Amino acid sequence: MTDLSHADWKDRAAKLTFRTQVFIDGAFHPAASGKTFASINPATGRALAEVASGDAKDIDRAVRSARRAFESGVWSRADPAQRKKVLLRLAELILENGTELALLDSLDMGKLVADAATIDVPGSAGIFQWYGEAIDKIYDEIAPTAPGNLAMIRRMPLGVIGAVVPWNFPLDMATWKCAPALAAGNSVVLKPAEQSPLSALRLAELAMEAGLPAGVLNVVPGFGETAGQALGLHNDVDCLAFTGSTEVGKMFLGYAARSNMKQVWLECGGKSPNIVFHDVKDLDAAADMASLGIFFNQGQVCSANSRLLVEASLKDALLEKLTARAAKLVPGDPLDPASTMGAIVDERQTQRILSFIGAARSTAKLVTGGERVSVDGGGCFIAPTIFSDVSPGDALAREEVFGPVLAVTTFETEEEAIAMANDTIYGLAASIWTNDLGRAHRVSERLRAGTVSVNTVDALSPQTPFGGFKQSGVGRDLSLHALDKYTGLKTVWIKY
Ligand code: NAD
Repeated sequence: MTDLSHADWKDRAAKLTFRTQVFIDGAFHPAASGKTFASINPATGRALAEVASGDAKDIDRAVRSARRAFESGVWSRADPAQRKKVLLRLAELILENGTELALLDSLDMGKLVADAATIDVPGSAGIFQWYGEAIDKIYDEIAPTAPGNLAMIRRMPLGVIGAVVPWNFPLDMATWKCAPALAAGNSVVLKPAEQSPLSALRLAELAMEAGLPAGVLNVVPGFGETAGQALGLHNDVDCLAFTGSTEVGKMFLGYAARSNMKQVWLECGGKSPNIVFHDVKDLDAAADMASLGIFFNQGQVCSANSRLLVEASLKDALLEKLTARAAKLVPGDPLDPASTMGAIVDERQTQRILSFIGAARSTAKLVTGGERVSVDGGGCFIAPTIFSDVSPGDALAREEVFGPVLAVTTFETEEEAIAMANDTIYGLAASIWTNDLGRAHRVSERLRAGTVSVNTVDALSPQTPFGGFKQSGVGRDLSLHALDKYTGLKTVWIKY
């Protein structure tokens, strides 16, 4: 699928059919209210489909279905080898339907279809495969006890997991929640973001085709204030796994407190620093990755390296290289494999990014970009933008812009770099560029970030935990540690 031309992608897009209804108990249904909302392609401004607008009634129906499936044991008590078989088949089906899934995400939220096809789709398949492979290799424990006693420590599925996810990686964020939750034997009610519901609905259908029993995975599209809140407040949801903004993450803690004290796991925002020291070995590599770290997916990445902290002596040289790289990133039709940048998710987010740019014009120095770009006469596109001389107190250095806007600040000493990097409410990711191993260890130890990448940015794999300190969240996605979120420990003590 990576060798498809622009015409091929457009042709396939024109032939797509969309799944648009709520998916409950293994079948599609209209929303209980009969209401729908338009799914808009941000690259063109045109509506793709009318999607069912799920609300509290649909959420309740989905939770009941998930509970029934869980209590029946058809999945929750299935042989782990059986769960593995289904998840591995789902991984295959994701790849077999990769062109379609890549198109759904690209059309829905504007990402480059080439990225969706080569990064998001194989990423999702790889994670289902990883948890499928893992789940029949995890052993429980036996505690040391006095003779005549056997104390088993068992890891049990929790029950019904509510998952609420954002729009920046629609298929992958759904996968990060569903794969470990399902592998552990839970049932799931997934609420995709209102900006990007299409791939999650197709994923549910593929999961059924792979052999997942009806009711084990339910998908309710809808708005945060209706469907999202109803899931957060539902008294029969055992655990709520959220990815999204810090502001909404805090609401979920409140929903849990006001309802049944469900466990809440949060993957929230970031303002990740990328620190380049004078002793960096390869400044070109640092510039390549700094560019990728902020402009990939139009900067709509929770762990985007949106603050570049550069040692003062290197500032001019690095800025020159970065500007040259930004010049090669030209927003274009996301369905054109030659495009180097896609669209911003919607008009609201575009305006939000432009307002950060507008404010920064009077407090920092605009190096490049700073403008809205029109593609084929319209669309939500913003040129890659770099501001230098950003003071650490500026909004651009403190708030999550979630767009292609880099804030560059200089430092003089290692101590100052660490203090600046940590001077944020967030703690999701950080990067360091240095050729000094001692410095790499010293600095990475003191950075308050869930992932510290050294001589790269945003290092990530299914094998390593992902998540944040401070207001970037609670808990970790990916790796075996994600299973801690979706299981509870049970002690079974036998006296004999
Ligand atoms: P958002 O918080 O606005 O929405 C996320 C989800 O929450 C959506 O499904 C939305 O419908 C729902 N929601 C919104 N308001 C709600 C409410 N009042 N009650 C219940 N649910 C509600 O975030 P977004 O704009 O979709 O995504 C961008 C954010 O996601 C950024 O802050 C980004 O950093 C974060 N993010 C974090 C990670 C991570 O792993 N840490 C990954 C990707 C994105």
